[in-house]
Amino acid sequence: MNQLITKILELQELSKELEPTEERRNELNSALCSYSNDFINTLKSHPAFVNDQNEKDKINLDKGKQSFIDFLNEFDQEVHQKGIKPASGGHVGYIPGGGIFTAALGDYLACISNEYAGMHYASPGAVTIENELLDWMKSLFGFPKNAVGNLTSGGSIANMIALTAARDKYGVKNENITKSVIYLSEQVHHCVLKALRIIGLEDVCIRYLKLDAYHKIDTAYLEKVILKDKNKGLCPFLVIASAGTTDTGAIDPLDEIAQLSEKHNLWYHIDGAYGGFFMLCESKKPLFKGIEKADSLVIDPHKGLFLPYGIGAVLIKDREIVYKSHHYTANYMQDAIHEKRDNPADVSPELTKHFRGLRMWIPFKIHGIEPFTACLNEKLLLTTYFRNKLGQMDFKLGPEPDLSVSYFWYEPEGEDTNKFNKRLLEHLHTDGTVFLSSTMLGEHFVIRLAIGSFRTKLETIDLAIDMLKSCLQLTKKEFGIN
Ligand SMILES: *Cc1c(COP(=O)(O)O)cnc(C)c1O
Repeated sequence: MNQLITKILELQELSKELEPTEERRNELNSALCSYSNDFINTLKSHPAFVNDQNEKDKINLDKGKQSFIDFLNEFDQEVHQKGIKPASGGHVGYIPGGGIFTAALGDYLACISNEYAGMHYASPGAVTIENELLDWMKSLFGFPKNAVGNLTSGGSIANMIALTAARDKYGVKNENITKSVIYLSEQVHHCVLKALRIIGLEDVCIRYLKLDAYHKIDTAYLEKVILKDKNKGLCPFLVIASAGTTDTGAIDPLDEIAQLSEKHNLWYHIDGAYGGFFMLCESKKPLFKGIEKADSLVIDPHKGLFLPYGIGAVLIKDREIVYKSHHYTANYMQDAIHEKRDNPADVSPELTKHFRGLRMWIPFKIHGIEPFTACLNEKLLLTTYFRNKLGQMDFKLGPEPDLSVSYFWYEPEGEDTNKFNKRLLEHLHTDGTVFLSSTMLGEHFVIRLAIGSFRTKLETIDLAIDMLKSCLQLTKKEFGIN
């Protein structure tokens, strides 16, 4: 017995470091605080992209212990100074968000308290915070209060939860899988197709819908294919629309698709991961008409609300079917009595999870909603500003965008357009002051500018224009164009 106690005390001594003293905590906090301040203060002078694909051999666990200050220096050199900078306002590629400061306080507190936000029984306060946020989203998008929702790690998992509910509602199983039909647009985010594969729907019939000149679903065509499929004896069960596509920011005709889904008894899913929160902007509300009629909806606070990466959301009207897909009990969980409450663990594949609601709650409490709405409206106007400037520079512009993603290309006389624009993009990436990305629209290589970070300002757009001017000159010169 004595030997046992001696051994325990020995291990206790060895593991003591895991609970730093208050003095030590203050020291660590203050180092982090001063690094964070420098980080934010110097973001503007830092390029948005440093293309460095070298092996990161300096980052290595074998080196063993390291002081926190040394680590922060290494982090700065090896992590912060290289790659694409999502925190920078100059990040206008893909779909940026930024990562507001007050959200970090939420993550910090969530980690310190380590509250378990999976079940009401375990942390009624934490679960209430998450459900209040979901209720706010339900009311924003006109979903009924008794819809269910979940705060996920991002849009991909949120889409997966919704598509699983659709699958189970319509009883799509092995025996009828090849007869079941899903309608979606070529512009649907790839995570939707990935989710379908993961949840066993790889072998359903997927109908890629014809799009109009604005890259939106052509609803007349949609109805035609549904009827054709029904006539063939197939079972259409799901239609997926986007409220803001990633490539061009297009919002599908949500209301017309809602009418068709109702008429033909289809599950109606809307992916609003990028565009959803533009619903807060008065001028854009008409484009979202019909979103309230969806059976399920995905939105991404880590895009549209400028939160740091790691929070998406899904709303689903049919609560019973979501429980059917995700609710599970086990003997070791018998104390967590299942009252009819919304337990996040019952509507998601996750059990033990990050208390991610706090990173949204604290910003809302500190700032209110108004600055978020102002910032979204600012992004829309910056998009117009950018397009006006670009139009003066002989670039070809895509159609007037619904939201804050626009695309453009240069048409060199007598040269291969795709080749020219690919080369132009390489120059833009080598410069890196501002980070833009590209996409293919059919056979057509285009450059995208997606304004989504709360830190993207008028001066950022001016920098982007200057960078485009000089890189265009460079490219023209290489191609021997005046
Ligand atoms: C980003 C995005 C997704 C994927 O969401 P993640 O948060 O990256 O997992 C899905 N749909 C659209 C339209 C998106 O822009």
